[in-house]
Amino acid sequence: MPALNHTHDPARTSWVASANDGVTDFPIQNLPFGVFRRAGSNEPFRGGVAIGDQIVDLGAAATANVFSGAARDAAHAASASTLNTFMAMGQTAWSSLRAALCDALGRGSIHEAALRRCLVSQSDAEYAVPARVGDYTDFYTSVYHATNIGKQFRPDNPLLPNYKWVPIGYHGRASSLVISGHPLRRPVGQSLPPGATQPSFGPCKRLDYELEMGIYVGSGNALGERISMANAEAHVFGLCLLNDWSARDIQGWEYQPLGPFLSKNFGSTVSPWIVTLEALAPYRTAWSRPAEDPQPLPYLDSADLRDCGAIDIQLVVTLSSTRMRAQNIAPHTLCRTSYRHAYWTLAQLITHHTVGGCNLQPGDLLGTGTLSGPTPAEAGALVELTAGGKLPVSLPSGEARSFLEDGDSVTLSAHCAAAGRPRMGFGTCEGTIQPALA
Ligand code: MN
Repeated sequence: MPALNHTHDPARTSWVASANDGVTDFPIQNLPFGVFRRAGSNEPFRGGVAIGDQIVDLGAAATANVFSGAARDAAHAASASTLNTFMAMGQTAWSSLRAALCDALGRGSIHEAALRRCLVSQSDAEYAVPARVGDYTDFYTSVYHATNIGKQFRPDNPLLPNYKWVPIGYHGRASSLVISGHPLRRPVGQSLPPGATQPSFGPCKRLDYELEMGIYVGSGNALGERISMANAEAHVFGLCLLNDWSARDIQGWEYQPLGPFLSKNFGSTVSPWIVTLEALAPYRTAWSRPAEDPQPLPYLDSADLRDCGAIDIQLVVTLSSTRMRAQNIAPHTLCRTSYRHAYWTLAQLITHHTVGGCNLQPGDLLGTGTLSGPTPAEAGALVELTAGGKLPVSLPSGEARSFLEDGDSVTLSAHCAAAGRPRMGFGTCEGTIQPALA
């Protein structure tokens, strides 16, 4: 894992006052990367870094000679319309730009006047998916999610025998990844109604969200080569929030024998900001397997994994219906949990993905799978919270939900907190359901 350095110093503050208020997702210790432009403009999308309620325009800052050496080269690369070139430069380049930003944004910096002219208010900005994602792979790393889902099909034997040995995943669809705020049209497809012998065709009736984290690959590996546990984290650029929307009724009919298809490919929403693995270093925690479970095969194990393989990221899902918004009712919290409960870590996902020689490329996205925690209130999808739709969730408007209805808005958010450390967050990942095509 990246070592702690001066960029993690909890005492450090910024001349951007909103970065120091203790509630922002973006204190100076965070410095996440994204791609933005002024909302409603024809400006090109370009790389930026969030600080408090502002964005540092990296291209403008590089032109204003705020950076030098490796940091300047990195800032030029990161000012493009996608972050792929910057991601490909590797950890040394990412760290040098982070360190330079930490210095330039720090209180008392000689660059304050020049950098102040490179700020754009987040309230004036719109965002794009920050990388050109060549491939998107979705995993299934929560044993609690896998067990909750398995119980609905196999009450006596919920977990399939491979689960504790191999990180389960499938190759997803990159073209339909959308940025937070993009509306999500209810998909249509085939499903088999209960008791029926033939499928019906029409709008999805069991539309669900999935609370996940997205893992962006930084530097890749050559086809035929592999990435070992020792090097896996050096290939990870950072993490975002990911809502892997799911059509449960379509999935139930189509998923055997090759896995999900149309039930997953109509859209997946990512949050705008990528929090680097370096920024997350203070929130690492030990990873372990219950003694009664099989321990990972040697290629998926390491001392670092045991020592600090997990990351404690607090996750929240809220829902707001059309009626709730009309009545000015605040979004309703459906779930709170943490990424630290994952059965397989991000290093294990990178290592397993490449062990047969599959090449990962800069900007590729790995989904963790639904991150349900150990208790029922920590379930990261409606299909779990409602026991397959049998126990609807009550909303403060008097409505109930088994699955999502048109107009429902789902928001994922996340933050890290640790004793003596500043709170830092991921922003939000929001999508609102639009009616299906006629
Ligand atoms: Mn998923």
